[in-house]
Amino acid sequence: MVKLGCHVSISKSVDLAFDRAKDKGCAVFQVFVKNPRGWAAKILSEEEISRFKNNQSTKKIYPNFAHISYLPNLASQNSEMYKKSIDCFSIEIERCKILEIPYFVVHGGSYKGGTLEQGLNTYVQSILKGIETSEGKVTILIENSSGGKNSLTGSFENIGKIMTEINDSHAVQVCFDTCHGFGSGYDLRDSKSVHKTKEIIEDNIGLTSIALIHANDSLGELNSFRDRHEHIGLGYIGEEGFRTLINDKDFNQIPWILETPIDERRNDLGNLAYLRSLIK
Ligand SMILES: [Zn+2]
Ligand SMILES: [Zn+2]
Repeated sequence: MVKLGCHVSISKSVDLAFDRAKDKGCAVFQVFVKNPRGWAAKILSEEEISRFKNNQSTKKIYPNFAHISYLPNLASQNSEMYKKSIDCFSIEIERCKILEIPYFVVHGGSYKGGTLEQGLNTYVQSILKGIETSEGKVTILIENSSGGKNSLTGSFENIGKIMTEINDSHAVQVCFDTCHGFGSGYDLRDSKSVHKTKEIIEDNIGLTSIALIHANDSLGELNSFRDRHEHIGLGYIGEEGFRTLINDKDFNQIPWILETPIDERRNDLGNLAYLRSLIK
């Protein structure tokens, strides 16, 4: 049975993520470990840390995932931005360690102002620093992006190059975001296209390196480079695409996290129920 969950809030206290996930019937969840919109990180109290760890051992919602905040750019060619990004990245990995969160999702970033080669180099250096900080306790998951100009991880070829360079399959794995993949040109609308996309993934990074699926439909068309998430089945990937994905013998072995909108059409419960209804 595929492990389904969604991104939940840590507002007020990180440990509340467990109750929020439980209320939604999640088997797994994803959180930010600090305010995602700024650089600053409010101190985590000893109490909330111990409540979080306690919940992790008793609530049967596991493994859980953390997602990097929005501002860091680990491929940045601007030295000031790069320094800030690395500092923030390290703080967040430290938090995953403290909270005993085993997986940390990071973005590929933009190499604006430099070449692709420089971007790849900078990014590999960033990830190597992250691996050092993680001390083997946190696996870094590189998320594919929706592509476009200067975007490093819009292609599985680039992700493959990064993985080859780092060459450590425990320390670094991949998070496959379906909306981003579709936006960057990997079709997922039916069984034929899913099969083809799987082959590309297998050839460049290997299917076994995917540790997490971000299940999002796409408001943008194929190859539009748009990163706009839509409710499952209501976007351009559509119901047939998700039916194929969730019944796929490889993809259904991997945890799925929803990052879909919450609006008058549907909430997380609605999207989780919809996804479950597609399971054969
Ligand atoms: Zn992301
Ligand atoms: Zn995502």
